Amino acid sequence: MIERHDCPGCGKDDVPKYMFACVTCWDALPDRLRDRVKSTARLGALDDRRLQVLSDVLTWYNSHPVGEHHVGSS
Ligand SMILES: [Zn+2]
Repeated sequence: MIERHDCPGCGKDDVPKYMFACVTCWDALPDRLRDRVKSTARLGALDDRRLQVLSDVLTWYNSHPVGEHHVGSS
């Protein structure tokens, strides 16, 4: 069974652990942020640099809502 986590963009709790966000939200992310996510992903652990990237990505998602916010998953 694949572990899953919440998507940082739309909140769907259906993102495989090896992916950062769902495909929709990942595609919406600007290249500069994607590059930063990819450059820290290999570190694995949640170190300070990765937490900073996550924080910046969440800030971006908050100001650039990606669709499907209201798709009802009961
Ligand atoms: Zn998403």
